[in-house]
Amino acid sequence: VQEASMKTFEELESKVRSYSRSFPTVFEKSKGYKLWDVDGNEYIDFFAGAGTLNYGHNNDLMKKKLIEYIESDGITHSLDMGTIARKNFLETFNDVILKPRNLEYKVMFPGPTGTNTVESALKLARKVTGRDLVISFTNGFHGMTMGSLAVTGNASKRAGAGTPLTNAVAMPFDNYMDGIDSAAYIEKLLEDSSSGIDIPAAFIVETVQGEGGINAASFEWLRKIEAIAKRFDILLIIDDVQAGNGRTGTFFSFEKAGIDPDIVCLSKSIGGYGMPMAITLFKPEHDIWGAGEHNGTFRGNNMAFITATEAIKNFWANDEFEEEIQEKGEFISDKLADLIVKYPEIQGELRGRGMMKGIACGVDGVAEEVCKEAFKRGLIMETSGPSDEVAKLLPPLVISKDGLAKGIEIMDVSIQEVIR
Ligand code: PMP
Repeated sequence: VQEASMKTFEELESKVRSYSRSFPTVFEKSKGYKLWDVDGNEYIDFFAGAGTLNYGHNNDLMKKKLIEYIESDGITHSLDMGTIARKNFLETFNDVILKPRNLEYKVMFPGPTGTNTVESALKLARKVTGRDLVISFTNGFHGMTMGSLAVTGNASKRAGAGTPLTNAVAMPFDNYMDGIDSAAYIEKLLEDSSSGIDIPAAFIVETVQGEGGINAASFEWLRKIEAIAKRFDILLIIDDVQAGNGRTGTFFSFEKAGIDPDIVCLSKSIGGYGMPMAITLFKPEHDIWGAGEHNGTFRGNNMAFITATEAIKNFWANDEFEEEIQEKGEFISDKLADLIVKYPEIQGELRGRGMMKGIACGVDGVAEEVCKEAFKRGLIMETSGPSDEVAKLLPPLVISKDGLAKGIEIMDVSIQEVIR
């Protein structure tokens, strides 16, 4: 990073409260899988707005549709009112995403962002079941508002609320306890009233924990959790805010697990262009809210409907994109496995599914140092996991293999620098 951009960053830092200390520069432009800062330094993006830019930065087709819509004085904000943009989105989502997957869901717009869809899911599950407890999972992340934070399995994040949050308990995620079947453990606790654990309204689970360390639940474990949910009449909420929209190789992260969640939370890349958007999908039989029981001002961002519709039409109308993501996911795995073998010093372990991958480092501080070194060399990536032990890769799904290879090469030299 050149000195000038550091200076601009420091000026900015002195004026506002910012959390971007890990990327100390001021960015100006972006396209596809690349960003440029004010001094023209180029960066490869392995962060993609924490999974918001799955279709890349400034996709030309979405940009064109958006400009056309704005120039035609299309409605930008409409709350719950019907608009052409909303209708087109709903029809496209139904025809291209839900129908071919034999999924029957009602679609709700809960608010502009990830935590809004989670809050709506928690509320709905409580109302449907008449119960208040929600079981979440160790190291899960669901958002920063009171309900979504209560189900977030991270004590330091929950500490932001000052006092303990209630109505939620985090149970062991898959592989949390070596050699112990955590689903069987949870079932036993629910069966035995002496445990003091009430039958919850819902389970909320990420199939691959993004912030929690790229922990992928096995499909078998997910099926077991679904079976427990069915047995006790508990609703199954899949939080696909980060793992959805193709990130793990299929549009929904649970498709190959063969489960049928009651409620699905989507946000981040659903808007397609970095536009704030969230949707909550729920089974028609759970459609019990009366008018006004879940509303909010920014629930109908028509510009997001325009880009979201275009994204779905372009990327999901046939199987090609899915095949491409799966192939790139394997490419990433192979390259990361090579790094793990090449640098035994970092005690690396490959994590993840599809294009949601990471290296968990057994040595404290290594992942963070690698990300810092990578940034200096033009690669943007973050850590995840309870002790920031995972160097996490979340590139735009549209990145070329060449872009992936170049980014991973930067990781390679960054690791060399760190262990030197
Ligand atoms: N759920 C998951 C799985 C997430 O990864 C996130 C954000 N990282 C959220 C919910 C919350 O989304 P938002 O930050 O948009 O509120």
